[in-house]
Amino acid sequence: MMIVLMTPGARVSAIGAVIRVCHARGLRPVPSHGSQRTVIGIIDADKSTDLSDIAALPEVEQVSPVSASFKLVSREFRDEPTVVQVGRVRIGGPEFVVMAGPCSVEDPEQIDACAQHVADCGGRILRGGAYKPRSSPYSFQGHGERGLEMLTAAGRRAGLPTVTEVMHPDLVETVARYADILQIGARNVQNYALLEAVGHVRKPVLLKRGLMTTIEELLMAAEYILAGGNPQVILCERGIRTFETATRNTLDISAVPVIKSQSHLPVIIDPSHAAGKREFVPALTLASLAAGADGVIVEMHPVPEKAYSDGRQSLDFPGFASLMDSLRPLGEALGRPIAPAVNTTEASV
Ligand code: PEP
Ligand code: MN
Repeated sequence: MMIVLMTPGARVSAIGAVIRVCHARGLRPVPSHGSQRTVIGIIDADKSTDLSDIAALPEVEQVSPVSASFKLVSREFRDEPTVVQVGRVRIGGPEFVVMAGPCSVEDPEQIDACAQHVADCGGRILRGGAYKPRSSPYSFQGHGERGLEMLTAAGRRAGLPTVTEVMHPDLVETVARYADILQIGARNVQNYALLEAVGHVRKPVLLKRGLMTTIEELLMAAEYILAGGNPQVILCERGIRTFETATRNTLDISAVPVIKSQSHLPVIIDPSHAAGKREFVPALTLASLAAGADGVIVEMHPVPEKAYSDGRQSLDFPGFASLMDSLRPLGEALGRPIAPAVNTTEASV
């Protein structure tokens, strides 16, 4: 890939001229508009491609190759952080964004109660699985489209955008009709047909690192989505498989600074699937904030013992409320604000 660096403050007409020449030559341009300047990636060009016609266009400062193995996700391509906006929530900005909800959407009462509690505690996005990747084919597989309906209805009532997993390319359209963020699960991080499918969607994607994927492979997976035309990608570290058995997975906290040094994409952590046990979730969540993550996605259930999936790692309501309270002073100290809790007694009178 080659990148065309426009001069700071280049005019829209000059940017348009570069894009037109690319199209006329059958090259694929991917613009990235920064606050200072615009850069345009030319996906199917390399060092051997003669781009002297583009280099000679007005307000083009430089045309150069990207040396990193991943391109559009790299800091070389875009130096300033990408902020993914979902409604009023900005992921990748100053705020530390908490997403929470049950592993699976079970029934309207369960997901409504979760949505309300997440909102009351200062959580910003509601999670809940409708299509569940289960190790056993005999385990609960999710309520499918009915689950999507319950999730979005609950989110709407509580004023929260939603995130949910999509497992198959054929279901991308359906899930995108309901959810605000499409989650690609750990087991599908290298499902390239699925990555290409969500690359064509105009909704943010939450891409989870696989149990056995390197950071470079995760960035390459994200590259598929950006190359497909969707720049709104949030990366998620959720624990990797190691020899350790005390936790379900091993949270690779170093993934946060490593990814931040190489990519402009926001990074969040899933402490629940990393820990596998609810008692370890608060420590990993605080560590995520301290390490510079842009947020977390946490599992929570009204009655964890009765959860259809991942009850052992799900916080109960008081546990989630106290986690949020313990996060705030740390966020303040680090300059990462966390949305305030709503005083429910006051709100209900
Ligand atoms: C989940 O979010 O419930 C889930 C299945 O996560 P992961 O893909 O990280 O295992
Ligand atoms: Mn889960």
